[in-house]
Amino acid sequence: MKITRIVARQVLVPVKPQKLMITALGQHRVSKYVIVRVETDAGIDGAGEATVAPLWSGETVWGCQALIDHVLAPVLVGADPSDIAGIDAIMDRATQDNWFAKSAIEMACWDIKGKDAGKPVYELLGGAVRPLAVRSRFSLAAYATERARTRAQELVDEGFTTIKVKVGTGSTDADVERVHAVREVIGPKLALTIDANCGYSVAAAIDAAHRMEPDNVCLFEQPTPRGDFEGLAEVRRNVKPVIMADDMAFDLADAKELAHHKACDLISIYPGKNGGIRKSKEIVEYAAKHGMACSIGSNLELDVCTAAMAHLVVACENMQVEKYPGDMLGPSYHEFPIVKDPIDIKGPFTTITNKPGLGVEVDWAVIEKNPVT
Ligand SMILES: [Mg+2]
Repeated sequence: MKITRIVARQVLVPVKPQKLMITALGQHRVSKYVIVRVETDAGIDGAGEATVAPLWSGETVWGCQALIDHVLAPVLVGADPSDIAGIDAIMDRATQDNWFAKSAIEMACWDIKGKDAGKPVYELLGGAVRPLAVRSRFSLAAYATERARTRAQELVDEGFTTIKVKVGTGSTDADVERVHAVREVIGPKLALTIDANCGYSVAAAIDAAHRMEPDNVCLFEQPTPRGDFEGLAEVRRNVKPVIMADDMAFDLADAKELAHHKACDLISIYPGKNGGIRKSKEIVEYAAKHGMACSIGSNLELDVCTAAMAHLVVACENMQVEKYPGDMLGPSYHEFPIVKDPIDIKGPFTTITNKPGLGVEVDWAVIEKNPVT
């Protein structure tokens, strides 16, 4: 089987106003992403999604589109999409980084491989080690206290058992107040985690964690800036919650640095950020060997990417979503789906099917109707 053509299209999908995401990185009001179709000489197409966000990885829809059209597609046409490691090698020789762009093509190749074999992607990854319904936590934006209170109550009513609160947005006082308000609303039994998206210095992170101790925060995600493995280790040695690395863990080299510095207890993994499903699995398996758990992370994906995430979770033992629920609710944040068969998301549960490939079919008419302008 050979790749004959790669089509990339930009799409704009607004986030539901009631689910507006505010983090230390800023506000996420609309998703501007690139949807990819990889075509083959076997008549099988694969779908991919690049959830590019300039604030996250520096990638944009315009850059992603140009990279796919002018750099990646020309070297990938003629390649065998079922040789995923080979596809990765071709892309890595063609360009550095660009994790999200590469992941879109890579997941499309898994989609093709699965459709060709008549098997869901999780089977190709070794088979399901957990149910196809995965429980997520809810990621509560860094809202003002009253709105945080109201949202927290709604989340409890919807059945969420772990709430993550965004912090690190400039005022530790406001962060402490928000976390305290959420704890008051959700009661003592539910799990409460925080995510600073690199927003604290080492000293500020330690200070914030100490001030939040009465509210029993069990997990502290990405307290300090990207690249400072030493600093993260220092935070870990001085606070009670387990430490999760996210915004600084892109590739296997980053995972090795995290292990070397004993900087974290667990790593947030997702195919977009980590350059694809195969590379994600490689990190997850490395982490297991070095005493680090993993869970699923997110930057507000649509259905194609969410499917890729779910297949990874279902197939990888060390994606410990039971102990550390992750973030896999992206489609539910958005105004409309871009597939004909949206993934089933009810309350905290995201459920994929056993259909071949990624199991979702892109609605190209929706993509064409909602371009990035
Ligand atoms: Mg995060």
